[in-house]
Amino acid sequence: MEKLPCKGCRGMCCGPVPITEQELKKIKKKIKAMPKKMSLDLKNQQRLYGTCIFYDEINDRCGIHSVRPSICRAFGYYNNLVCFRKPKVAVGENYIANELPIGILSIDFMWKDFI
Ligand code: SF4
Ligand code: SF4
Repeated sequence: MEKLPCKGCRGMCCGPVPITEQELKKIKKKIKAMPKKMSLDLKNQQRLYGTCIFYDEINDRCGIHSVRPSICRAFGYYNNLVCFRKPKVAVGENYIANELPIGILSIDFMWKDFI
């Protein structure tokens, strides 16, 4: 699979994303397992309006990469989730979620729900 040019992109696709119950649980567990200072530093970063609450602006990467929602994993690789920086990586099919989302991360679920 061809790689996406995410480094230096400053997470342009990292906005509010739908998450499932299982994904929410995994993220909660991950945040709880982080050293307190690390989670607070991530929480307190300044982000542009609309940017995902877990986007790590300082290190230019997802702050919860190992437990990011499935839609974040799929982004860039499907016709309905095209990365504008490298559209040719998207294959000729649409992404269809396996599970129904329970809400939108960064809108329905904020830092207060995790820390
Ligand atoms: S998938 Fe594309 S838009 Fe999203 S961070 Fe990577 S390069 Fe940027
Ligand atoms: S969870 Fe991570 S990959 Fe998904 S939108 Fe937020 S920062 Fe980006």
